Amino acid sequence: MLERYRGFLLDIDGVLVRGGQALPGAAEALDLLRARGRVLLLTNNSTRSRAGTAERLRRAGIPAAPEEVLPSSYVAAQFLRGRYGPVRYWCLGEEGIREEMGAAGHVLVPPEEAEWIVVGMDRELTYAKLAQALRALLRGARLLATNEDPTFPTPEGLVPGAGAIVGALRGMGFPPEVVVGKPSPIAFQVALELLGLPPQAVLMIGDRLDTDIAGAQALGLDTALVLSGVTRPADLERAGIRPTYVAQDLRCLAQEGLLGPLESGAMEVLIRSPRMGEVRAVLEEGRAPKTVAALRRALPLKAVARRWGQEVYFATPVAVELEGGAEVVEKGAIGYWPPGRALCLFFGPTPASRNPQEIRPASPVTVVGRVLGDPAALDRIQDGDPIEVLPA
Ligand SMILES: [Mg+2]
Repeated sequence: MLERYRGFLLDIDGVLVRGGQALPGAAEALDLLRARGRVLLLTNNSTRSRAGTAERLRRAGIPAAPEEVLPSSYVAAQFLRGRYGPVRYWCLGEEGIREEMGAAGHVLVPPEEAEWIVVGMDRELTYAKLAQALRALLRGARLLATNEDPTFPTPEGLVPGAGAIVGALRGMGFPPEVVVGKPSPIAFQVALELLGLPPQAVLMIGDRLDTDIAGAQALGLDTALVLSGVTRPADLERAGIRPTYVAQDLRCLAQEGLLGPLESGAMEVLIRSPRMGEVRAVLEEGRAPKTVAALRRALPLKAVARRWGQEVYFATPVAVELEGGAEVVEKGAIGYWPPGRALCLFFGPTPASRNPQEIRPASPVTVVGRVLGDPAALDRIQDGDPIEVLPA
């Protein structure tokens, strides 16, 4: 699945780090993605510059170069530079904005002289600063918001985000003229330009449906939602936004252990065999969570077909180890059961025998999914044919 992309855009909070700490396996997963294509880390956080964001990641245990990082402070500076050349600005925000605006050639001036007011999260916001911004806007200054995230996660809980400050200005009658952070197309356009890739070659990976996923989809990017941040599986069922893929976290995604794209808790697989071609099937976690989890870890797997009458069994040479340690299965077999179009996993010492009677009495059968499309395709499989099962 990942081989179809030449570039990856990753959100940072909830994808790589949470509460200032690297998520388990995130650094290694990032390296796997880097080996497959160009990587940029696209964050709405405007409090730091590219260098500052890279430093924050390094402290969290995720080495990243400043050139790999795209905070909204940088996107704002580049957007203004590209559209208007160097501008005179004043800022309601933290040092990340001032650093990036300065590096792009923009000039920080007192609010009464500013052409643009650039707003980001400002943890030293005061009533006096809001009043200064209002006076500048009344004089005709234009308003750019780095992002409109209403809140910002910290280890102590949520705190007001840049959107809260933008909201205060909006409440005074001044909605932002430009918002550059996700889900704005500007964030993705700046990122695609830096990647030097068309949208269809890039996968956006994020933890928020309304910003990371919706914003990327609007520009035609494929998307992967990870469930390691703010989105719960139940949210996904309620939301109208459908990511291309869903994965538990970045580590699972990089290893292609996908849950999606069909529904949360489900995973689509391809079953391939030379005589049959390809058949799609879906593994349904809700029906046999441990089995599906074990199978997901085993994928892609190679097997040999065993056919008895109408039934086809895929005798796998892989060891399938279930979670919890106690339930270790040395050999398993996926079977196809025509009457119910069901995919089954058999446990026990099965594949050595060609006799189904030796398999079934000793082997509890767990239904793990169903075949999509026409199951008659499986009738073309013959005994001894090689079979591959891989993530779709
Ligand atoms: Mg996030």
